[in-house]
Amino acid sequence: MVIYPHPDDESFGAAGTITKFREEGVPVTYLCGTLGEMGRNMGSPTFANRETLPEIRKEELINACEALDIELQMLGYRDKTLEFEDRQMVANHLKGLLEDINPSLVITHYPEHAVHPDHNALGAAAIEAVRLMDEDKRPVVWVQAITNNYDEELGKPDVRNDVTAYFDQKMKAIVAHKSQADGILGKFRENSEITADIEEAAKQRLGTEQFYIWNY
Ligand SMILES: [Zn+2]
Repeated sequence: MVIYPHPDDESFGAAGTITKFREEGVPVTYLCGTLGEMGRNMGSPTFANRETLPEIRKEELINACEALDIELQMLGYRDKTLEFEDRQMVANHLKGLLEDINPSLVITHYPEHAVHPDHNALGAAAIEAVRLMDEDKRPVVWVQAITNNYDEELGKPDVRNDVTAYFDQKMKAIVAHKSQADGILGKFRENSEITADIEEAAKQRLGTEQFYIWNY
């Protein structure tokens, strides 16, 4: 089970790991916290506005999950407000879903090391949800830190997945989030000379997915 707040967190953050699991026949469900409806990217050239963005991002999310061949559940929280939700209420909501779906592994963000307040808040609620479960029924929890200097602060991640073998699948999922990815991909197209370099840089940056194992 993957628990992140925004459409595209799953594709940029964990698509390689998800693909690896899917190829091994492991079912994956993405619990997506919000529709990212407060996002500032409206496509390039612009094809969304504040009113149409939620619907567009929802469709992109559905397409990305289809590309990744995973189940999707939208949690219905409001973008950029997760930090103001009652943590226990969100944790109880997630606990119910955990008990229904019964995953062996949960992937979420590392609270206070995940840059965005929504990432920190939903990561903390997911960790709390698992803590509320009976100890013998708890899934393993992998948390993803994305601050620039997280390894200086937290030490080496416990799990380091080289996902370069799944890079094409990961790009397919990222590209499904057209409103978010277009700016980056436009730069690829504008200057074909540097495309190879950019692709190499992207491969390096997106080619590894790292997680810490949460210690209860
Ligand atoms: Zn996000």
